[in-house]
Amino acid sequence: MKRILSCLIIIFTLFFTGCIESNIEPSNNIEKYFKVIVLDVGQGDSILIQTPNRKNILIDSGSNSVRESFLNKLDKNKVKDIEVLISTHPHEDHIGNMDDVIKNYNINNIYMPKVTTNTKTFISMMEEIKKKNIKIKPAKAGIKFDVDGVEFELLAPNENYYEELNNYSVVVRVKYKSRAFLFMGDAEKLSEGEILKKGYEVGADVIKLGHHGSSSSSSVQFIKKVNPKYAVISVGKDNSYGHPHRETISLLNKLRIKYFRTDEVGDIIFETDGYNLWTKK
Ligand SMILES: [Zn+2]
Repeated sequence: MKRILSCLIIIFTLFFTGCIESNIEPSNNIEKYFKVIVLDVGQGDSILIQTPNRKNILIDSGSNSVRESFLNKLDKNKVKDIEVLISTHPHEDHIGNMDDVIKNYNINNIYMPKVTTNTKTFISMMEEIKKKNIKIKPAKAGIKFDVDGVEFELLAPNENYYEELNNYSVVVRVKYKSRAFLFMGDAEKLSEGEILKKGYEVGADVIKLGHHGSSSSSSVQFIKKVNPKYAVISVGKDNSYGHPHRETISLLNKLRIKYFRTDEVGDIIFETDGYNLWTKK
């Protein structure tokens, strides 16, 4: 009888705590927000975008020299599948780990500008795409798609041929409710001018500046039109290019735009419910 009673108590306790627990709001409620993480990949670019339902969009993959830490960062952010993979342009500091990304993850869509190089990195990336039989979607200005209610619009490239590989960069504007983000790749002033000429909506709360804060990007007219609250510079410590350039920093200061640098603060995280915007470092 005693045994039956203690069994009943255990069952009752289990049932009751189970009920209570299901009524508690999950403590990781913040996971429901739209999230942008500018990953610290040294001298290079990689941006992970997560929709409120945790669909992943990855723009670029950093350079091969940070392979381990880059792949760890994807793991840490619980990336399993990638809904959209965007390769802005085929420079090594942007596509350095694309082969591993394509090999290790389920990729549903790949956008790339229509330009090729004969580097080992590029060839390795193309081989993995071929192995997985993924059809590449050519990236061009004007393309729009939607992931989980988050709107994506490609603003560049606007032309078919450029002298400078940087200008093939896919420029992406991402809008979630009332908040917008602009990712410039390594697009230079020439591409910025084309975007303005075409009359695309460029306004954004956050801009990932073009070409690691180089003075070859970020014209006064363009930055004024974007009118961002925050600028992000993805850059390596003591890089040999002198990025970010003095001209870019003084422009940001003059326009009173708050900026964050990955070489100073590491990964830079933005979260939004579509109205409020939070930054974390
Ligand atoms: Zn670059």
